[in-house]
Amino acid sequence: MDIPGYKIIRELGRGGMAIVYLAEHEKFGREVALKVMSAALGDDESFQTRFLREARTLARTSHPNIVTVYDVDVHEGNYYFSMEFHTGGDLKDRLREGLSPADALRITREMASALGRAHECGIIHRDIKPGNILFARDGRAILTDFGIARNYDAETQLTQLGTMVGTPRYMSPEQARGMALEGPSDLYSLGIVLYEMLAGVPPFQAEDAIALGIKHVSEPPPALPDDLAEYQPLVERLLAKEPQDRPTSGDSLAREIAEMERTLPPASRIVRQLHAPIQSPSEATLVSAPRPARSPAADLGQTQPSGASVPTQDTSRSSKTFLWAGGALATLALAAGAYFLQPASDTPRPAPAVTAAAPPALQADPDSDVARWLQRAGEALAADQLMTPENDNAVLWFQRVLKLRPDNPAARAGLDRVAERYVELGEQKLKRRDTDSARLYAERARQLAPGATGLTGLEAKLAGAEADNTKREQKLLDLGTQLRVTGLLGGARTAEEEGKRSEAIRLYRQALDLDAGNREAREGLARLEREPQTVARKNESPDAAE
Ligand code: ADP
Ligand code: MG
Repeated sequence: MDIPGYKIIRELGRGGMAIVYLAEHEKFGREVALKVMSAALGDDESFQTRFLREARTLARTSHPNIVTVYDVDVHEGNYYFSMEFHTGGDLKDRLREGLSPADALRITREMASALGRAHECGIIHRDIKPGNILFARDGRAILTDFGIARNYDAETQLTQLGTMVGTPRYMSPEQARGMALEGPSDLYSLGIVLYEMLAGVPPFQAEDAIALGIKHVSEPPPALPDDLAEYQPLVERLLAKEPQDRPTSGDSLAREIAEMERTLPPASRIVRQLHAPIQSPSEATLVSAPRPARSPAADLGQTQPSGASVPTQDTSRSSKTFLWAGGALATLALAAGAYFLQPASDTPRPAPAVTAAAPPALQADPDSDVARWLQRAGEALAADQLMTPENDNAVLWFQRVLKLRPDNPAARAGLDRVAERYVELGEQKLKRRDTDSARLYAERARQLAPGATGLTGLEAKLAGAEADNTKREQKLLDLGTQLRVTGLLGGARTAEEEGKRSEAIRLYRQALDLDAGNREAREGLARLEREPQTVARKNESPDAAE
């Protein structure tokens, strides 16, 4: 690669359409990033015009959070531009190290402001993602990669790609559908980046681009972990399915975030442990449990890495847990007291004289067993060891008591409390739209205490959510088919234009297999089968095509 005036030092990054080099601008003796577009694109005249126009527009944006373009030119068919070289790495790397909520908000605000400016200049970025957010030496976030090649890409290859341009993980619903894009599309993608910065995982994941596209189009984003709940409304507005439900502009979003940042609690500066699975609500109890406990989620066969809970970040939740555990213990103590004050009518108490005479270890006193078991049950309950581990859990100890004293009120109250805890866990799962786990918790609660507080409410909500899921699955299926059909039709049109008749027929047929009544596919097929030579003759004799 030889670009006059620049000495290329090394490659910085490479995508489908361009290579970015670190280079020295020889006259000024300063380092720059040099982005050289693929030579193949240089042959296309419309590309050249667009490339120059957009590089000029970008140069005019002049914003502290948008990469500064110095120069744009072409040399021997290689279109290139030079820009400020940033040494702070990109957000993709930063995500791996983990970010605090305060950092996440700042980066989002800076990107919102950059997008505000870009949109004002008539530029839609279309590929907002961590790899396109760089950091300056002073930590400022810098938006780069303004899709000079991509916009070209979008216009000419849209149909061929089956409507999708952009990076599936960060793609807006309208982008997934191949619709025209406006500013709010970029704000949606920024919302996905914000979610990923906060939670450590992106909101939507799927096996392939189509499945992911469907999620963007129709699935509501999952709730953030509890300790990040205050950011949920912002995330949800950015991730609104309808562009008009998102913030009206990058600038208004930036102002809104600045307002939030003014009241951030000190805890928001703590870096979250990222790329661990989102904490299940029950894991929070590990933080404050009196002794190591397994999460009740383990009952559901979920594996939870032991390092997943980070004590320091969890102050609000752990105090809640303490309160809860304290409450449960108080209930138990009251119930146990009630039991011990009650005359035991079922089994005669051993005579006091015998009790006093016998050495404690040999004592066969069922009441002292009961007391000991209740004590262990209480501890297990406080540690959220509801039904695991197998040999030490609240249900086990309460049931052992009930075997000996079927009417023991403390044990009954205890089982009710376990059931209520399962109801609580079920509610939390439901909030995260994890209906399967919520269903299991509800069933467990019903087995333990059919009359548990809140159980019928949970079951009613669950039934509603499950019905919704079925509906949504149906809709997803329809949408998936629609997207696939759109892709096939696009491919067929392109094939037809390029004179690849049998390819076009094959694609139209596939589209008809999925959507038997599809008019475009039927017409296309009829056209191709009726007039086999139309496509080939199109260019030579225009009349023949009619
Ligand atoms: P592509 O279209 O190939 O994605 P980008 O403009 O995103 O091209 O650049 C690719 C990579 O090159 C970036 O992810 C980044 O690591 C690096 N890079 C791009 N521009 C700069 C720059 N101005 N300073 C430092 N590194 C850069
Ligand atoms: Mg890029």
